[in-house]
Amino acid sequence: MKRHARRAKGIGGLGGPGVAAMVYLLGAWAATAQIFEVKTWRDLSDNRTSRMGRAVMSAARSPWVHAESAHFIYHSESLQELARVSQESEFAHDYIADYLGLREQDRKARIFICVSERVWFRAMEIGGRREDGVSLHVGNEIYVYRPDEQREPGMDVAHELVHFRIQREFGDRVPLWLEEGLAVYLGWKTARAYQETLGRSVYREMPALDEADMLEWNEVFQRRQYPRDPDANRAFYRLASHAVERMIDVLGREAVPRLLTLVRDGQAELEAVLREEFGVSKEEIHALWRDARADALRKQRAE
Ligand SMILES: [Zn+2]
Repeated sequence: MKRHARRAKGIGGLGGPGVAAMVYLLGAWAATAQIFEVKTWRDLSDNRTSRMGRAVMSAARSPWVHAESAHFIYHSESLQELARVSQESEFAHDYIADYLGLREQDRKARIFICVSERVWFRAMEIGGRREDGVSLHVGNEIYVYRPDEQREPGMDVAHELVHFRIQREFGDRVPLWLEEGLAVYLGWKTARAYQETLGRSVYREMPALDEADMLEWNEVFQRRQYPRDPDANRAFYRLASHAVERMIDVLGREAVPRLLTLVRDGQAELEAVLREEFGVSKEEIHALWRDARADALRKQRAE
């Protein structure tokens, strides 16, 4: 928090069209330090958005607000949502880097904040619909849908940021289930920790998975794409996140970066890595998958 407060001082030098916006912002959010600077498109340190980004922005009926912080470039349909998302994303940046023991981010992630339905639909049309359809991530670009200003902050930004950081640090060939499981598990942990800083406690409930929808572990571990069938897709997410959670219980979170390095590119077989590199016995590995499967078949309430 101290770091954020220090950074906020830099905003004083803001000029041009950003000024009015910042005055308004500082009035509305006097209690929280603003950690981004509103900029013109031309003044962004990097305005080379992808074709998808340009197509999504051109779907809007009103002008976009552009802004930049130490770790992110933001494009938003709404200044108010930008302020909210920037608080969440800066927190998530620090939390995730700390949890995964990552070095300084080498490239800014670009976050598109879509407020209108037509803009979000355009994003999904191009990027593909995923998960519960409120966020997606393509390369260094993250798209979030924040339709209602009163909406409670979700775990969308944190979740997509886990994907982004894993892909930047470990390449995009980490097994799909492992990356997704970490995004679900750590994304939730991050979002919950952020809510705590606001004095709120949150929980989530996950209904029990139907035995009929259950997938075999081999199928989970070998998938390179998300299952098309919604029930199978839900099972994939649940099993992946419980497997990650159980593994972290056994190995400790310090083991995660090494594990990612060892199994990326599919060059090392996971169970062999667990046995040989981390000294987990065959029986323990067996128990791990069994417990994760049982977790998925039970209704879960996480505080
Ligand atoms: Zn995901």
